[in-house]
Amino acid sequence: MKNYTWDLSQLYNSIEEWETDYREINKLSLELLSKKDLFTKSATELFYFLEKQEQLGILLTKIYVYAKTAFDVDLKNQNNKKLFEKADELNYRVQDQLSFVEPELLKISKEDFKTYLEEIKNLEKYNFMFEKLFKKRNHILDSDTEQLLSSLDAISSFFEKAYDDLTVGDIEYPKIFDPASGEEILANNTNYYLALLNPDRNFRKVFFNKLLGTYKKHSNTLTSLYFGSVKKNVIEAKKRNYNSAIKMALDNNFIHEEIYENLVSTVRENCTTLQEYLEYRRKSLGYEDLHFYDLFVPLAKNINKKYTFEEAEDIILNALKPLGDDYLKIIKKAFDERWMDVFPQENKISGAYAIGVYGVHPYSLLNFNGTLNDIFTIAHELGHVMHSYYSNIEQEYVNSNYTIFCAEVASTVNEQLLYHYLLSTSDSEEEKKYLLNDHLDSLRSTFFRQTLFAEFEKNAHELVENNQPLTESVLSDMYKSLYENYYGKDFVIDEALEYEWARIPHFYSAFYVYQYATGISAAIAISDKIIKDKNYDINDYLNFLKSGDSDYSVELLKLAKVDMSSPEPIKATINNFKETLNKLKSI
Ligand SMILES: [Zn+2]
Repeated sequence: MKNYTWDLSQLYNSIEEWETDYREINKLSLELLSKKDLFTKSATELFYFLEKQEQLGILLTKIYVYAKTAFDVDLKNQNNKKLFEKADELNYRVQDQLSFVEPELLKISKEDFKTYLEEIKNLEKYNFMFEKLFKKRNHILDSDTEQLLSSLDAISSFFEKAYDDLTVGDIEYPKIFDPASGEEILANNTNYYLALLNPDRNFRKVFFNKLLGTYKKHSNTLTSLYFGSVKKNVIEAKKRNYNSAIKMALDNNFIHEEIYENLVSTVRENCTTLQEYLEYRRKSLGYEDLHFYDLFVPLAKNINKKYTFEEAEDIILNALKPLGDDYLKIIKKAFDERWMDVFPQENKISGAYAIGVYGVHPYSLLNFNGTLNDIFTIAHELGHVMHSYYSNIEQEYVNSNYTIFCAEVASTVNEQLLYHYLLSTSDSEEEKKYLLNDHLDSLRSTFFRQTLFAEFEKNAHELVENNQPLTESVLSDMYKSLYENYYGKDFVIDEALEYEWARIPHFYSAFYVYQYATGISAAIAISDKIIKDKNYDINDYLNFLKSGDSDYSVELLKLAKVDMSSPEPIKATINNFKETLNKLKSI
């Protein structure tokens, strides 16, 4: 009988083995701590220290992943729970014990490192890590100021905490009547997406206005919290010798501001494409006008087919064929050698994820119910699995962990290939319509909408940088005018929508969401090349998957022939949107 659970014995055969590594980590961590004042003083000491730290890192991931995965599939198992808490505690303790490492490494000068390199050639594998450290150093201040900034950081984290407390805990969301179920439901965030998919337009309207109206009721507090959070970013950036808060945030990940500018300006120039789709949507739904609460209902009948896991595997293997034999061979391994935990189980965590383990192989958790959506989830998670697998095999540990900027590329490329495969093999018009519409809706929310968000946070920070206060009306007016620009004059902006900015928790991690838009653009540009460009060498893409974090994210994407500092990938995504819309219209 086939086993659909993952095989954790590939990590450890027994808890005793796990405990041995646990003790080893403790030992290593103390040894490293004892070298605190010495390890930067000579090439030998430095190399020894970094190698030990690497060993520790590899072991720590391994015991952590074992404990986490075992716990996630059986949340009520007390032994697993204890094991996970033990791993978690160790993780924090080690991080704390080793918090001296970066400040100490920063004391090494470029010249020192050069001489060290001449002495020990193997230090070379740390080149990129040092290059990044040296860049960081320009913005690190004297230790008193650093301490002050770190206290400021601790205090300002309460803006986000208060936001969560208010929106998750304190606010009482109104109850509304749902005619379909005959019951009252809460107009809150948990029910948000399901409510907006409800075919009953009046219900959607009431739900949306009640939910956003609740945010409006608390808009004074929500404005102050956001203003505080923006102000803190602005003050810190100034202190750290950055021209702007956006520069500081992007520089932390070594991303140039032009990437951001390029995204926003290219999308801005092409908003009419989005508006054309909205007009098509309005007509298809047969409405006089289009509101925000009309944006989610599918325009075609849902594909209610059910698939077995074997059928899903078959579809995925076919869909990913363009990625070549080597790629498929490893995907097959993931299916055959129990890298995945497939089905929902009582006491198993919900959702899906993939997690890499250096020196072993990645694991993926699924909750497969047999829907088409679930097949997309498998393809997505296998994208992460393959990115981690290749990077872990090809890179030194220090360079193996890919960045957030690159993270969603591999997963989205797989989803795109699956979508193209299904579209080209389906013989049902209704099914095709569903797929095309779903593609457009996901581009609207991941590409256009996140870019609108990106522009909003940029504007908000700029206002504060110019000593303007963020008031409720400033934020809402700004938000409204962004909607006017992106969604066009025919789209109805209800008053409640002007308060949508208050519903987005991500704004408390400033300048983060643009990466959803750049990620999907890169993925669409790559998958379009794979599908349409006969001269595209698939090895270029595989080389990107093998590159981990061995260079700056934008440089790594260039391996796959995508330049995120140019308008090309953004334009490719807009063209893809346009073509999809035309196909949909032609059905
Ligand atoms: Zn993902």
